[in-house]
Amino acid sequence: MSLELRTYRTARKAKRCDMHGCYRTIQRGDRYLRTSLPPQVDPNSSDHWWSLNVCAGCMSPEDRERTQRRDEIGGA
Ligand SMILES: [Zn+2]
Repeated sequence: MSLELRTYRTARKAKRCDMHGCYRTIQRGDRYLRTSLPPQVDPNSSDHWWSLNVCAGCMSPEDRERTQRRDEIGGA
C-alpha cells in the first residue's frame, strides 16, 4: 500500500501540470489528478507534504479512466 493520497478533481481555474517536463495547462473544467505525498515517505525526503497536479496527458490509462467518472465522494 502506498501512503500517497490521490484525488480526482475538476479544475475550478486553470493551473499548471506539475509533472516534470510537462508544460500543459489544466484548463478550467478539466478533470485532473491531485496526488499528495506525506513528509518522509519515499521519494519525499523533505519535512513537508508534496502535492502535484497531474493533467490527463500525464496520468496512467487507469487514472485517466477513473478520473472521467463522477467525483468519487461517498463511494460507488
Ligand atoms: Zn501533464
